[in-house]
Amino acid sequence: MKVSTFGAIILTFTCSAATPAAAPLKVNGPRIMVHLKALSEFGKNPQGGVSRVAYTAADKAGREYVLRLMREAGLDVSIDVAGNLVGTRAGTDAALKPIVLGSHIDSVPEGGNYDGDVGSLGAIEVAQTLNERSVRLHHPLQVIIFQNEEGGLLGSSALGRGLDAARLNTVSQSGKSIRDGIEFLGGDVSRIAEAKRQPGSIRAYLELHIEQGALLEQQHLQIGIVEGIVGILDSEVTVEGFANHAGTTPMDQRHDALLSAARFVDKFNSLVTSVPGRQVGTVGWIKAEPGAYNVIPGKVTLGLEIRDLDVSKIKAIFARTGEAAEQIGRLNGTTFHFSPRDISAPALTDKSLQGIIAATAKQLNLSTKVMPSGAGHDAQEMANIGPIGMIFIPSVGGISHSPKEFSNPADIENGANVLLGTLERLEIADP
Ligand SMILES: [Zn+2]
Repeated sequence: MKVSTFGAIILTFTCSAATPAAAPLKVNGPRIMVHLKALSEFGKNPQGGVSRVAYTAADKAGREYVLRLMREAGLDVSIDVAGNLVGTRAGTDAALKPIVLGSHIDSVPEGGNYDGDVGSLGAIEVAQTLNERSVRLHHPLQVIIFQNEEGGLLGSSALGRGLDAARLNTVSQSGKSIRDGIEFLGGDVSRIAEAKRQPGSIRAYLELHIEQGALLEQQHLQIGIVEGIVGILDSEVTVEGFANHAGTTPMDQRHDALLSAARFVDKFNSLVTSVPGRQVGTVGWIKAEPGAYNVIPGKVTLGLEIRDLDVSKIKAIFARTGEAAEQIGRLNGTTFHFSPRDISAPALTDKSLQGIIAATAKQLNLSTKVMPSGAGHDAQEMANIGPIGMIFIPSVGGISHSPKEFSNPADIENGANVLLGTLERLEIADP
């Protein structure tokens, strides 16, 4: 059967329930791998990964390569004022809101070849497949390659919330300010406000990404259906004690801030794990002062964070952490002070998109798991504009932000097919 539009496929689904559904469109998996390999040359490092930090020459060269792929996929490509690559494919009904697919190709220093790249090249492959099969969508389609995801979701923030002067003046990992970096990539900071999109202006945003954790691999599952991107509470914690001679102060007369901090780190860990759920809590850094062999530490500062999809749970754990700290302080006459920063809000994915992703995976005979994303993604900024959906594929060993990052070609192909199939079903569900 020749299928020229998704509208034709709907007939097969709805009118012939007794017969098998039409074979879903499939991407060209080997072609994605060829593109991944070619992209890995830009910013290649001796460890086998890439250092394609945003606003560097390698980043710019990688973007030029990707821009070429977007054009070959039949997309009408431009650089928006925020420096994002935006490829557009007209739909048959210009009045409909666009469906947006996207990710990023910048990396952390000494990063890998899969974080961002899989979703970017997967989205371009979807457009290429539609183009080759001459499939016309009702909705306009946009493929966006966001700039500087790793430096704080800059490109997607410009669309989702806007970038203010304070952010534009921040110095990025490349050494350039965000402002100069955007200009370097071909954006126009003087018109940056125009990048911001109105809430409700897109039909959906879909992002394919590597999991960056090991849950899918450990459970031998193929597709992660992301239920949301976690919120994060960060707090600096100061422990005040009394610095004194380590030789002459008896053990029962010490106000040892580091001892309290050590007890606190252990207690915090057990508090986080004492309630059911998938919340995580980490003490990521610690500093003792004055920091000498022969002085009892008088002051300790440390940084903790708590992540979960539910803000009220984050707040409850943080409150219990404060109570526990007070008790620990009483044991040896030390005091705790917490300076929490704002909680970054969790971004939940759209329930109906979760369902569509699940149905697509099922039709492709792929196993799935509904799971949170513990890492941040451009999708969380796009959630300010419209419904978001995210598809995860397994990361071997759960390794990411490392040259050792790896995902199997079969999983990459599966992920891109789920992205394509989800788009197809969304088009049917919502002509
Ligand atoms: Zn990423």
